[in-house]
Formats: sequence, structure tokens, C-alpha cells
Amino acid sequence: MPSTRLLTLSLLLASSPLLAQSGDGWRVHDMSRPHPATAPAVPAARADQPPPGAVILFDGHGLSHWVGSDGAAPKWTATREYFEARPGAGTISTVDSFGDMQLHLEWAAPAPAHGEGQDRGNSGVFLMGRYELQVLDSWHSDTYTDGQAGAMYGQHPPLYNASLPPGAWQRYDIVFRRPRFGADGALLAPARVTVFHNGVPVQNNAEVYGPTSWLARLPYEAHPDRLPFGLQDHGHKVRFRNVWVRPLPEDLPPPPPPASRATTEAERQALVGRYGDATVTDSLGRLWLNLGDQPMALVATADGGWAIEGVDAPVEFTRAADGAPATVTFTVGGVRIRFGR
Ligand code: MG
Repeated sequence: MPSTRLLTLSLLLASSPLLAQSGDGWRVHDMSRPHPATAPAVPAARADQPPPGAVILFDGHGLSHWVGSDGAAPKWTATREYFEARPGAGTISTVDSFGDMQLHLEWAAPAPAHGEGQDRGNSGVFLMGRYELQVLDSWHSDTYTDGQAGAMYGQHPPLYNASLPPGAWQRYDIVFRRPRFGADGALLAPARVTVFHNGVPVQNNAEVYGPTSWLARLPYEAHPDRLPFGLQDHGHKVRFRNVWVRPLPEDLPPPPPPASRATTEAERQALVGRYGDATVTDSLGRLWLNLGDQPMALVATADGGWAIEGVDAPVEFTRAADGAPATVTFTVGGVRIRFGR
């Protein structure tokens, strides 16, 4: 093998775990890891439009995708262009339930503006019905920062005030990761939220501390993996349009590591030796594959073979007719890399 290729390989492998797996439990370069689905590219000029496969929640034909807080049809106003909170009619929620998702919506605060602070163009996106991304007229209007437009209410102020004047259509592009709960209801991972307000990042993978609330920090309580999201009636005629969701695939747990088997010193010693630019050594009761500056532990797999530990890379040995080591080959990403004669 040319030395430049060996150097490249050594650099590529330099980050391989030496012993135990770390991170999320997947082997490095695991070929069994599911491929992400292809998402059709969206031309920039149509970036606000629902992508193929999106769940469209308002298309100008009424509020059939929504339900009122009393379980009846929403009493909000709907036109062909938008729908509007009707003060006193209550918060509305989606009929469908969602977990991890991308959510796009457009909203406009009442114009001309009236009121100040929280009493000015107030609504909100209640993710999973309990984590509020604030909707507020924050155009030249002051309030507590963790309650202005783009805030996770009572928790995270927005990174920027990206507000447009009242009456102007404003965009929220939200990437939401739901909280994870164990079977016993314990919180395993909090919700996280990333938000672009009119194209400006205002929440950057922010940790949601629990249900949002006025005057309080509330602890998480276990809830289903998918729930409707709501739009708040805060007594102001805030308008919405172009609401769509792209459900996001959830992480799959890695498969259990391949079963391993015990080895004897005699079995290992029979494989020790030089294979061209690679060297196999026996130390600490296990075999090591050395390609230069970093030894990689090998595991004996239950099927009688070998693999680089923590990597989806089976290793094969061949021996010469006299029993001496001949070649060592590992396969990674479908490519066989051989050392030896
Ligand atoms: Mg609100």
C-alpha cells in the first residue's frame, strides 16, 4: 500500500475509539444505520411554501384542521387569506398530533397597534399544548425579554428582535424536538427548540425547562410522544396564515453491539505479526491492529471472525501455506482495505 494512502488511512482512523464505544451507541461508519429520507430541494423563492409531504393546517378553506378548547369547531374568524383570533373564543389546537417537527407559520399583529407590553398583539404557539413560543407585537414596544416575540415564554429571550411592524406578515420557522420520558415517567431529555423569526435565528437549540407559565417555572410532567399544538387567544386579533408541519423522523436506538467471544492466547498469537504496513500485536489479552501511530482494538465476533471494536469494520486474516500470517483485510463502508503480501 502506498505510504500516502496509509497516512490518509491513519488520519481517518485516528479518531477511532480504542476500547469502549462512546457517544450515542452506534458503531462508527455503521452500514446498518438507516439512511435519511431524501428531502426535495426547495427553491429559495418558495422557501415558505409547504414542501411535498407537509401537513397543511390552513389552506384558505376553513379551520377543519383545528378544534376549539371546548372540543367544538373553532370560533375564530377564517377568510380565504388568513384566520384570526377572536377575543374570548379561546385557544385553538390542531386536530392532528405531532412530536418532533418543523413548523412554519406566518402571523400578523393587529394594525394599528394598541396596548403596550404583553397587552399588544399577544398570541402564542403552544408546542405540544404546553411550551409557548411567544407571538407578540414587539415592534418598538417593550416588555420583559423572555416574553417578547420569539421568546420561549418565561425561559429564553430571543437572540434578536426580528420584529416587523404591526400588520406586516411575519414568519416563524420552528424546529422542535419533543422531550423524552422513560417508561416510569422520568425525564430523559428535555425538549429543544430552534426558531427563525423572519429568517433571523432567535432560538438556537434552546433547552425548554418545562411547561411555560406566567410567574412560574414548572417541572416537566410526562406526556404522550405526540400531541396537538395550540394557538393562543390572548384577547388580541392576531392573524395567521400558511401553517404547515413537516414531521421529523425520530432517533432510532442502535442495535445491541455484535456478540463477542472469548479468545485463547494461542488463537491470538497465531495472528500476531507484520502484514506489510500493518502490524498485529497481542496485548492485555486482546489483539490490536496497528496502522501507524494508533493501535485499534479488535474484538472476536461470535461468528468466528474479527472486527475493529466500535466500528462497523469486519477484519479477515489469511495465512500462508506454512501457517505464517499473510494478509489482514478490513472492510469499512463497503471498501476492502488489505495489508500484507
Ligand atoms: Mg402569548
